[in-house]
Amino acid sequence: MILADTHTHTTFSSDGHGEPEAMIASAVSRGLSVYCITDHMDWLYPMDQTKFIFDPKEYFAKLTKLREKWSDRIDLRIGIELGLRDEADVAEAVRKYYEELLRSYPFDYVIGSTHCVCHIDPYYPSYWENRTGTEGMLQYLESELWNMEHSDGFQVCGHLDYLLRYVPKNRRVNKAKLGDAVDAILLTLIRRDIGLEINTGSLRRNYPETNPSAAIAARYYELGGRLITVGSDAHYPEHVAADFDRAEAMLTSIGFREYAVFSGRKPSFYKF
Ligand SMILES: [Zn+2]
Ligand SMILES: [Zn+2]
Repeated sequence: MILADTHTHTTFSSDGHGEPEAMIASAVSRGLSVYCITDHMDWLYPMDQTKFIFDPKEYFAKLTKLREKWSDRIDLRIGIELGLRDEADVAEAVRKYYEELLRSYPFDYVIGSTHCVCHIDPYYPSYWENRTGTEGMLQYLESELWNMEHSDGFQVCGHLDYLLRYVPKNRRVNKAKLGDAVDAILLTLIRRDIGLEINTGSLRRNYPETNPSAAIAARYYELGGRLITVGSDAHYPEHVAADFDRAEAMLTSIGFREYAVFSGRKPSFYKF
């Protein structure tokens, strides 16, 4: 059984629907021994610059108190999900902001995610107006590769292929054409000692696989990668640790024997 959920959101994220304490209580009720909150920080988010940011001072004050209050029932870790950016006009400003943030606050765990491409969050349909499904995915993976190569301070690549969840129904993705782009990302992760997050959020959204998929997780394993984390990406208390049984079955069938949980941005390994 996976005893740690390492990717979850609270009301510190504008799309989070559970107060931090309600999320922690849910983690306890699900029998977890470690629980990590990773609220969104998407600096200079193009659709609305105030949408995915929070006050880190308030965040640490609140979560540190809760960590003490709940310490006999669960080990709370304070993390963050950073929205990384590769566009030439914002990349440097975003990088500097994150560097200062991570220097100023003792985050246990930092997820590096690619949420925006060409100044658009491809979650929005406008991204797909002039792109086929395959083109949209390739452009996303290209940005993600740049982010994985040029950004620092994060421990894992969040939800590597999650854009597949948001490809419009009238677009088709030829997954065979994504292989080289995915390999380039996986090899970069391995070279830079960055982990691969297995995100189960997709399984609640009528998407049949985790992000990344079993095929990508297997390819990571084949290339020598062993640094895996598992997160539900819960935005509601009832979704904490959701579908972890499916993630575990998938990972152990590939050959993974352990998953990582971070404290002070250093991993500990837990057996499945
Ligand atoms: Zn994300
Ligand atoms: Zn998330």
